[in-house]
Formats: sequence, structure tokens, C-alpha cells
Amino acid sequence: MKIIIIGSGPAGLAAAVAASGNGADVTVLERLPELSVKLRASGGGRCNFSNTLDPLAFMEKFGRNGRFMQDALNRFPNEYLLRFLEENNVPVAADDGFHYFPVSGRAADISSAFRRKAAGNRAVFRTDAAVTEITEGFLVKLESGELLSADKIILACGGKAFSSLGGTDRGLKLAEQLGHTVTETYPALAPVMLKESWISEHAGLALPDAAIEFGKGRNKRSGHGELLFTHKGFSGPCALDLSGEIAAGTAKENEFKILFRPCAEHSVGFWRNDLEHMRAEGKTKLVRTWLAKYFPHALADRFAAMAGAEESRCCELKSDSRDKLINFLGEGIPLTVSGVGPMNCAMVMKGGVKLSEVNPKTLESRIVPGLYFAGEILDLSGPCGGYHIRWALSGGFLAGDSASSL
Ligand SMILES: Cc1cc2nc3c(=O)[nH]c(=O)nc-3n(C[C@H](O)[C@H](O)[C@H](O)COP(=O)(O)OP(=O)(O)OC[C@H]3O[C@@H](n4cnc5c(N)ncnc54)[C@H](O)[C@@H]3O)c2cc1C
Repeated sequence: MKIIIIGSGPAGLAAAVAASGNGADVTVLERLPELSVKLRASGGGRCNFSNTLDPLAFMEKFGRNGRFMQDALNRFPNEYLLRFLEENNVPVAADDGFHYFPVSGRAADISSAFRRKAAGNRAVFRTDAAVTEITEGFLVKLESGELLSADKIILACGGKAFSSLGGTDRGLKLAEQLGHTVTETYPALAPVMLKESWISEHAGLALPDAAIEFGKGRNKRSGHGELLFTHKGFSGPCALDLSGEIAAGTAKENEFKILFRPCAEHSVGFWRNDLEHMRAEGKTKLVRTWLAKYFPHALADRFAAMAGAEESRCCELKSDSRDKLINFLGEGIPLTVSGVGPMNCAMVMKGGVKLSEVNPKTLESRIVPGLYFAGEILDLSGPCGGYHIRWALSGGFLAGDSASSL
């Protein structure tokens, strides 16, 4: 059986190993001059390819769509990925108890292991081989005009994010040509830009555990973690993890608001009590000095000033300033989002090929028999921390196995 896999990212590589291992005649087509460019740059070149979560907890991190991954994660679980790498001379470890990396610290070791294994099974890898058209049957047309035939096709073309590392909409266009729906796409794991100019004055500052929330009722979203002030807004895991949803919200609403709490752990009650304690003891400390116990000095000064308490002492703080300050710290400071991304700075794309049109048990199209999908091209996006490559690998193994064994 002839199988053409389009894309040499983690999804395409895993599909190539599985399909060639089942004896299929596999060709991987990659449009770039080199293979697996994004994978080799991932995790700062170290490749955080997975984490220690069990499948259920892992899926939950992808929101409502996460359930779609169940079959792939159960059939090709973490243990399978770890064993595959160890057996192919890539020792791996989760030194911090959560994030898996190759022990060598080289992402390229992961792509090489997959490539070597597939090539050992006679899979062929072609670079500078951009696919421009697929006709049912299948005939695959390359940019050069060359035509290739295949019994099965696996679309593992990734998403639009980070174009300098190969992100493109070409795969999505091929899926649409073949009759698939592509949901609205947004940059995700991307910086969040804010209208408030004071944010940029603190560029470079980091808060170890800040919180962001937005939305109402069932659509309420929140997250916390390390947050970084940038020249345009926020970055760091706290902002990155929510950025896809913020991008979707910003596209729908003109003035999209988020609430920013500089310390996730402490609520209104804590701040009220702590300040009351300072006041009751008649402490003559300045409010901003008290705040500097919790935040970098520049931010402590900023928060005091925002409440009109720039030079006030804790013991003489007026009630309106006190309430304002406690509200900012405990309920959150309202900020207006001016944008997310752009896509070429985003680590992943939110949105993609509509999941209801793909069978999760095999990753075969419900519209075109013999067509399979794997990886980021599908409408699944999660947080930072080894989620996307693990999904691409497990899904790639499933697509490759199903395409070659049905
Ligand atoms: C800077 C950066 C760091 C990241 N770090 C991590 C990390 O540490 N951990 C993690 O889990 N995730 C990380 N990610 C996300 C992760 O890299 C991607 O989600 C993952 O690579 C997706 O795998 P994929 O195989 O679906 O697609 P890709 O890796 O994007 O591969 C798709 C390939 O298909 C090729 N292609 C597209 N269209 C065509 C066509 N028409 N013809 C031929 N070839 C085509 C592309 O050139 C590309 O090489 C990172 C992303 C970025 C940008």
C-alpha cells in the first residue's frame, strides 16, 4: 500500500514510523529545504515533547475539544512514546517531575530517531516538495508540477503559527479543497497586547504567580502562573495559556476586557486583613512600602498610585483609596486587550480542521475515505508544557497505524 504523508513535523514523523513499520510504502513530503524545522527549534531547541499527565488530565487541558484525543492517547500513551525514544537511543527525563525532554537537551535527537527508524523501514523523505493539490483517488501535485499517486494520504501539515519555522495555511487549504471545514483560526500561546500604556513602563518585570480572568457565566475563563510584562502587554505562561481564547474574544468584541490580579494566591479578604493589621498596629509604613513586601518596587509604587495612595501611610489611608486598592489586588485590575499575537509570533494555532468531520478512533476523514489527519492541523490547542508535541506524536502514530492496517 502506498501512503503519502504531507509534513515532516512530529505528527508526520510518527505516522511515517507507524505506517512503514506495518509494511506500507511510505513517502513523506516536506515543502521546506529541511525536515522537522519547528520540532528541532521547539522548547528552545531542547524539545519539551511531553509531560507526566495521565490521558484524562491531559485531554482536559485542551478544553471541550480535548475528548477527541482519547483514542490516540490511550492507544499510544506516554509510556509508548518514552519507550520508543529510549529504544531508539534517545534517553529522556522529566527532571522537574513534569516536563519531558531528551537527556541530551537536543531536540534534533528526537527528529533523527524517528527519521532513522522510518528510513530503516524504507520510508522515503523528500524536502522542497510542497504539495499544492490533492485529487481524490489519490493524485498529489507538487509545486514543481510533478504528480504522485497514493492509496492513502495523511495530512500532517501543522498550523499557521510561527511562519519562520514553517507555519503555513497550505495544509488547511488542502483540507478545504477536499471538502473539509476549517474552523476560525487564531494565534495561541502568543503575547497578549494591552491598551494601557503604563504596562510597557514595567517591561521586563515578572510576577511568579499572577492571575488573569475574563468572560461571564459558562464562558468565564481564568488561569494563573508566571506573568511577564512586555513593551506591549503580557507574556509568560499565565498570559500565553489563555491567549488563544483571548484572541477569539477580541475578534468578537471591540473592547475586550480582562481582569489582572498580580498575586493569584490572595483574595480580597487577605488584602483587607493584612492592611487592617498594619493600620491597627498604627504602623507608619507607606502603603507602597507595604506593597513592596509582595511585588517588585516599581509595581508596588504603581498600584499605590492607581489607588491614589502614592505617598499615604497605611495608618492614615482614606477609605476610598483603601477600597480601591483592595479591589484592584483582590478582584483584579481591568485591562483592555488590543490584540494577540501576531500569528507569526504564536507558538501554536487555535482552530483548524473541524473535529466532527474526522473519526477519532482512526483519524480518518468522515468525508474522504483514505484521507487521514494528525497534529496541529486539527482543531485542538492546549497550554504550554509539552502538550502539542505529545498530541502530534500520539495522533501521528494512530493515523499512520490506521492508514496502513485498514
Ligand atoms: C518556537 C516554538 C516552540 C515550541 N515548543 C514546543 C514545546 O517545547 N513543546 C510542545 O509540545 N510544543 C511546542 N511547540 C508547538 C509544536 O512545535 C507544534 O505544535 C508541533 O510541531 C506541531 O506538529 P505537527 O507535526 O502537527 O506540525 P509541524 O511541526 O508544524 O510540521 C508540519 C510540517 O508540514 C510542512 N507542510 C505544510 N504544508 C505543506 C505542504 N503543502 N506540502 C509539504 N509540506 C507541508 C511544514 O513545512 C512543516 O514542516 C512550539 C512551537 C514553536 C513555534
